[in-house]
Amino acid sequence: MSPRLLFWVPAVLRLVFLLCGSALAWSLFGPISGLGVALGIMTVMVGLQLYYLYQLGNWLDDPQKVRLPDGWGAWTDIFSKLYRLRRADDKNKAELTEWLARFRQAMHLLPDGVAIMDDVLFLEWCNPAAERHLGLMLGRDKGMRVTNLIRSPDFIDYVILGRYEQPLTLALRERKLIVQIIPFENRRQILVTHDATESVRIEMMRRDFIANASHELRTPLTVINGFLEIASLQPNLGPETRMSHLSLMSEQGRRMQNLVEDMLTLTRLESIDYPVRPEQVNIAVMLDQILQESQALSSGRHIITLTVDGPDIHGGPDELRSAFSNLVSNAVRYTPVSGEINLLWRVIGGQPEFVVRDNGIGISPEHLSRLTERFYRVDKSRSRETQGTGLGLAIVKHVLMRHQAALIIESERGAGSVFKAQFPASVIIVNDMA
Ligand code: ADP
Repeated sequence: MSPRLLFWVPAVLRLVFLLCGSALAWSLFGPISGLGVALGIMTVMVGLQLYYLYQLGNWLDDPQKVRLPDGWGAWTDIFSKLYRLRRADDKNKAELTEWLARFRQAMHLLPDGVAIMDDVLFLEWCNPAAERHLGLMLGRDKGMRVTNLIRSPDFIDYVILGRYEQPLTLALRERKLIVQIIPFENRRQILVTHDATESVRIEMMRRDFIANASHELRTPLTVINGFLEIASLQPNLGPETRMSHLSLMSEQGRRMQNLVEDMLTLTRLESIDYPVRPEQVNIAVMLDQILQESQALSSGRHIITLTVDGPDIHGGPDELRSAFSNLVSNAVRYTPVSGEINLLWRVIGGQPEFVVRDNGIGISPEHLSRLTERFYRVDKSRSRETQGTGLGLAIVKHVLMRHQAALIIESERGAGSVFKAQFPASVIIVNDMA
């Protein structure tokens, strides 16, 4: 039966019942009784309607707390429909609340900043990343104009010009931010911020590296080209001059070779495709070879000693050998004739460490924090004279980082230096026979 019929049929039946009852009373007991029965039935029916209206009013006042009655007659249908509507409404609300919670969580975890503003840039809402990037506090700044909160002339120009199709790169609070305003709905705008500090730094480092490497390679190339030009313009040079030119050219060639090899080593160390393949490193054998190499480099001009008082470790043997050799060859190159160099392998506080101590030229404190930067040199000419590439300590730093080890430098200008490569206790190989 259709809902309309469902409403009308009982109503008509009730009316018929009322008329029949009244007619029966009229015929049996006279007109007064007939009217009385009709009045009585009508009073009960009106009373019932009023009661259900009252219940409906109560329910509308507080639909969450008050229960809907089952109803009678047409009310049964009305109440059951209202009940279904309320159930659907509750379900929608629960779904919306869940979505909102998920949205909030996603916005909290988002590394990019999002701020919602009205059409005249008054802040309505922002996520924690936007608070961090722009120095905002939602609780404090809500309802304020963002141009009053982000006091950067570049940002204000961006807003005034309104060319929002292009993002803006902004230097703010020691960060490099990429900022863009996106209008949405009719009267709202989203401000999106992306922290590009790290990528800008990497890009700058890459550019510096290329510029430095080109510069370093250009110098020996210029020297070699110069000698080649002399040789072609003056074919009758004396054998002595020719020999000296050839030796200078091969020296510059060696310099370029060292530089290219160091650059390749650094690239390999930085690449995630070349993880450390740890194996047992026989420290005593490795350091003994490094000692012999350093003695060859020194050609008897220094006193070099080696003490091995520690266990073997797990690590990449080639990388460690390259790092340790760099530290030792630096000590030789930056220590004047008859200086002393001590190499020591020991365990301190459970941590193995390689110590290279020299009494050479030393380093002033202002340089110490920059020594591991690529191509950073305290004294450029001395580094070049001794075939330095300026990449040695950068290689050491990377090798140690790959072994969770730390490089500690202590030095004093004129008094010598101590370079320590400190490893975690976990790299020690425990000897089962002990
Ligand atoms: P380089 O090839 O120039 O030696 P490194 O990266 O190995 O490059 O070292 C960077 C700079 O650190 C060197 O140019 C030098 O100025 C300084 N340095 C490194 N080791 C020593 C040391 N033992 N004594 C004094 N200065 C040092």
